[in-house]
Amino acid sequence: MTKVLQHFIDGKWVDGKSDRYGDVFDPATGEVAAHAPFASEQEVARAVEAAKAAWPAWAATPPAARARIMFRFRDLVEVHKEELARLVSSEHGKTFEDALGSVNRGAEIIEFACGIPQLLKGEHNENVASNVDSYSMRQPLGVCAGITPFNFPAMVPLWMYPIALACGNTFVLKPSERDPSAALRMAEVAAEAGVPAGVLNVVIGDKVAVDSLLRHPDVDAVSFVGSTPVAEYVHRTASSEGKRVQALGGAKNHLVVMPDADLEQTADALIGSAYGSAGERCMAISVAVTVGDEVADALVERLASRVASLRIGPHTDSKAEMGPLVTQAHLDRVRSYVDTGVEEGANLVVDGRDFKISGHEEGFFIGGCLFDRVKPQMRIYKEEIFGPVLSIVRASDYEEALALVNDHEYGNGAAIFTRDGDAARDFTSRVRIGMVGVNVPIPVPTAYHSFGGWKRSLFGDHHMHGPEGVRFYTRLKTVTSRWPSGIRRGPDLAFPQTR
Ligand code: NAD
Repeated sequence: MTKVLQHFIDGKWVDGKSDRYGDVFDPATGEVAAHAPFASEQEVARAVEAAKAAWPAWAATPPAARARIMFRFRDLVEVHKEELARLVSSEHGKTFEDALGSVNRGAEIIEFACGIPQLLKGEHNENVASNVDSYSMRQPLGVCAGITPFNFPAMVPLWMYPIALACGNTFVLKPSERDPSAALRMAEVAAEAGVPAGVLNVVIGDKVAVDSLLRHPDVDAVSFVGSTPVAEYVHRTASSEGKRVQALGGAKNHLVVMPDADLEQTADALIGSAYGSAGERCMAISVAVTVGDEVADALVERLASRVASLRIGPHTDSKAEMGPLVTQAHLDRVRSYVDTGVEEGANLVVDGRDFKISGHEEGFFIGGCLFDRVKPQMRIYKEEIFGPVLSIVRASDYEEALALVNDHEYGNGAAIFTRDGDAARDFTSRVRIGMVGVNVPIPVPTAYHSFGGWKRSLFGDHHMHGPEGVRFYTRLKTVTSRWPSGIRRGPDLAFPQTR
């Protein structure tokens, strides 16, 4: 019998009642691993109600006490990290080592949230006017919602709710319906750590659940991570409902290879960042911009054999470097992009479209693909493919390479590989991108910095986690006070001045 997943609402496992289900696959075999119930508007409302009811007591809990629960949560995630990584791998398809890395990076956000008493410290000024003092503080928003993508089923939810909760909010998470089990298990672990019932709820669902969260009057803020069309929709809809929104979207990350770059290091970096997690990372490098034909030729020569010999396999193969894609539908989409690239006239140097593994014929596997001589007007350059497909675009000089990065509609990540400090400094200063690497291919900010792109990779004003996370999940209040002994007699109708 195929397992049927449950929602986690008000500290309890709850059966889905909508009679609508989606399939969760084991991408390595193509078999259905579980049925995911899709929450109705009423089921989402129940989760919001639980979060609203839990909020006053949780908001009144001292930050240090909330931090202690986060310390325990951090410890329990450490205890269960291999189990969580296996859940990620079995539903997403990425290798165990890769999944474990993502759980560890997520756990670092919990570590950051443990410092919340310090992070929430306000500011105080004595005597801003005669006998008048002023101080500011950050207070929680209320009920926050998180909507997350399939590609980091543990890490991206952890970008959101540890900080939201530590700040004194309650939370309703709607993880990707394609691989929700890690998020569900983490909610149970959080409860074991002491997160009270109703403070963290998880509902499984599709657009119906998302729309219910976006329109529910008791949801105060929405954090979203996913594709750009949905991010834009979430931002527009939730903003029009008067909610605070941060919506992170898709990407097309470029790596500029300067003529003086160490080509061995660059090739290593490109293999890891373009093909790791089968390219299903929002910080994957999908475009290498080579400066000069000599660099391009030398790089293609180094990459081609390595892409063709990537070790691809199921997550149970400890030697596999790359797993399958998440679903058959996504595999079809990625394959059709490769077809398009060929039709558009790009040079397909390595073709992984027909890759198969014996014993896993029904798995959603594709081999690594490498395109050379990709042009900026091609669809495979302009659009996000989200698969193991690297495009090489040949630029004649640095300015042309920089202009390519800056003119692209996405602005999530970009990197430059060079030994020239002047070029690197110019790049970091002039590039219109949210996260920039210098000889670092995947410049994902650590927990105590903030994660977010520019242009159509982020809608809203706040990046995620780090200081921006604390700002997003709190609002500022400023108090100005004077005590009776400092009050001059008689009314004063003029505008207050610092006298
Ligand atoms: P997706 O946009 O299809 O889904 C994301 C979430 O939105 C899911 O929970 C899904 O249920 C929901 N959703 C999907 N369609 C919807 C609709 N029409 N209306 C309302 N809700 C809807 O994204 P995905 O395929 O799960 O994830 C891959 C995408 O996420 C890629 O574009 C990738 O670049 C992006 N991503 C971005 C970041 C970032 O930090 N910028 C991080 C990870 C992933």
